[in-house]
Amino acid sequence: MTTLYISHPECLDHQTLLGHPERADRLLVVERALETEEFSNLQREAAPRGDESLALRIHPEEYVSNLFQALPHEGTVEIANDTVLSPGSWKAAMRALGACRLAVDEVVARKVDNAFCAIRPPGHHAERDKPMGFCLFNNAAIAARYAQQVHGLGRVAIFDWDVHHGNGTQDIFWADDSVLYVSTHEMPLFPGTGAPRETGEHDTIVNVPLQAGDGSAIFREALEVCVLPRIETFAPDLIIISAGFDAHWRDPLANINLTEADFSHATRAVLDIANRVSGGRVVSILEGGYDLVGLSRSVGAHVSTLMHG
Ligand SMILES: [Zn+2]
Repeated sequence: MTTLYISHPECLDHQTLLGHPERADRLLVVERALETEEFSNLQREAAPRGDESLALRIHPEEYVSNLFQALPHEGTVEIANDTVLSPGSWKAAMRALGACRLAVDEVVARKVDNAFCAIRPPGHHAERDKPMGFCLFNNAAIAARYAQQVHGLGRVAIFDWDVHHGNGTQDIFWADDSVLYVSTHEMPLFPGTGAPRETGEHDTIVNVPLQAGDGSAIFREALEVCVLPRIETFAPDLIIISAGFDAHWRDPLANINLTEADFSHATRAVLDIANRVSGGRVVSILEGGYDLVGLSRSVGAHVSTLMHG
């Protein structure tokens, strides 16, 4: 299989405060993890610069222009709890959107089998008109909408295995029966949403909370019972993974005990479904993951599985 890896050095230029878990080092260790011989067949592209029109597919014009106008000339400015803008944030966010666009373009055109976007800032907490939880623009939601509006895909499924609930993606697609949003996440935990009773207006939101201390066995059972059947039944034309790796046992922000093998397992399961019902189309987009060792091992396992099945 051909897997496309997309990133850009400008994604390092979104700066957060010293000690903040969502930091540029995350992308540096991801890059390093994929330098080994095992990944020599990985196809690599620099993310093109995205533009505002991508953000506007999801976010209101006022939201986008307010963020732009809030950019500081130096230092950082806090725009939501734990969520800041630095002078390089706009460039980083635009490269992130450009990466998502390229990934969808290449996967839908079948130039590659699947793609992984190593980008920051992450996106799944960003609601339609609210930055939140380190996120500015909802990258995965924008990728889904772009695939529908530009490539004419009908249904898109987003599987969000970040350890936090993707309140933003849920908010955006709450009343949209063309996008299935399925999330596994620790609960209770930030942001507090993601109860099973939150199912959206058309029953296309699927929340599968895990409890602190849960590990491989419970996660895999949740996939088998609650996650995978829903994605397969939905028969999406594209599967997007909101790929956060903070459910790794080493992660400091949560208490789920997954290993890199669990991320391989989940990746393989998604590929299997995609091969059966989605023409094989999978686009994976980095969300969280804050322990540098856990993150690099998990991304290695994830990308290796994308490449080799
Ligand atoms: Zn997270």
